[in-house]
Amino acid sequence: MSSADTIYALATAPGKSGVAVLRLSGPRALAALQRLTGREALAPRHAHYVTFRAPGGEAIDRGLALYFPAPHSFTGEEVAECHLHGSLAVIRQLLEAFSGMEGLRHAEPGEFTRRAFINGKMDLMEAEGLADLIEAETREQKTQAMRQMQGELSRFYERLRGELVGCLALLEAYIDFPDEEIPESVLQSLSERSGGAAALIRNVMQDEGRGEHVRDGISIVILGAPNVGKSSLINVIAKRDVAIVSYQAGTTRDIIEVHLDMAGYPVVLVDTAGIRDSGDTIEQEGVRRALARAEAADLRLVVADGARAGGVEEALPLMRGEALLVVNKCDLVPQSVADALAISTQTGEGMDRLLAALEARVVQLFSSGDAPMITRERHRAHLGDALYHIEKSLTSLPLELRCEELRRAAGAVGKITGKIQVDDVLDVIFSSFCIGK
Ligand code: GDP
Repeated sequence: MSSADTIYALATAPGKSGVAVLRLSGPRALAALQRLTGREALAPRHAHYVTFRAPGGEAIDRGLALYFPAPHSFTGEEVAECHLHGSLAVIRQLLEAFSGMEGLRHAEPGEFTRRAFINGKMDLMEAEGLADLIEAETREQKTQAMRQMQGELSRFYERLRGELVGCLALLEAYIDFPDEEIPESVLQSLSERSGGAAALIRNVMQDEGRGEHVRDGISIVILGAPNVGKSSLINVIAKRDVAIVSYQAGTTRDIIEVHLDMAGYPVVLVDTAGIRDSGDTIEQEGVRRALARAEAADLRLVVADGARAGGVEEALPLMRGEALLVVNKCDLVPQSVADALAISTQTGEGMDRLLAALEARVVQLFSSGDAPMITRERHRAHLGDALYHIEKSLTSLPLELRCEELRRAAGAVGKITGKIQVDDVLDVIFSSFCIGK
């Protein structure tokens, strides 16, 4: 995976489209573009209307050629782009032409972004933000990805790391230069500063996983006895045929998922096996899985059969944690049930109210507090490490060991953005103290 290679790949989605973009990055990008277009003079960052030709001279297509000289490009390397018609035949022919050129090879997954990271065009956080933006399906996923891609989260972590490096520099100076006039109170202010950093991390980590949820989706599990109308409900909500509605009890044995966009947030709605005591081992397994899934869910939508005597009472034990009770089949027995939403999946009655209630819960689950600073488990794990080491640095360990703990804490935060520089500490020492004057 040498960066001396020039890599190429289709940058747009594979398939038929109005326009397809093929991108090259590396030292031979310009030469390849010149060869394909027969043009020597390709002004940087200008669109040139050209004919792309195969090595034998056959015209592949007419389109636009662009050239971005290093380092002012996405990857920081020489980059070329070919904009052609999104035809499978055209794309294949151009890829073949590239593969026949010396020093060119097809890019590995993520390799353009990897090169951008290596060349300092973006840090790890920003690269993850870019990946999330491409994956984003709902408005809030996009907003979060943009924040991350544009460096808002990176700046926060860099400031945090800077603070830890500052503390470390102070402590090292205190140890290394006891004869310099460094007052005792330095230790006190050091503890306050690293204590402040620990408090900040604790605060950031108490976000109920909202950032990860926005990426992965919030899960709502539909629970209830067989035949209460769970599959009918998921069908109505999803407005598509995703679960089999059947007259026989216990048919929804497999867990069925529907991905939805609720108020801009991604939601995974899960239909489960009906909960009842059963002698059938396959059904028992379905019930076990349904309950496990419900345990892990963010919200439980418990469905009761309003047309059956004792239907509501039967559903109540399933109301655990964050849960919403709906009483279905209200078309059969019109009645008002306290604290529950009466619906009919057959007539659609109460569905608007139920969807509004679900949306309100989803918004409430996501939008309490500040915008989250953690969007992946990876960030949370590194922050947890950092907190552990800061807390150890605040104990009565010998000063050298406290230094080591602070160094580890700064290193753990550095892993989040991918910026870990050993020289940082020295830089801070030498810039803030006039040692060796
Ligand atoms: P599940 O086992 O909980 O998934 O229940 P289903 O969605 O398969 O529904 C069981 C039966 O109840 C089917 O015959 C449905 O047509 C019927 N059903 C579901 N919702 C309603 C409703 O709101 N009103 C009436 N009258 N019947 C319903």
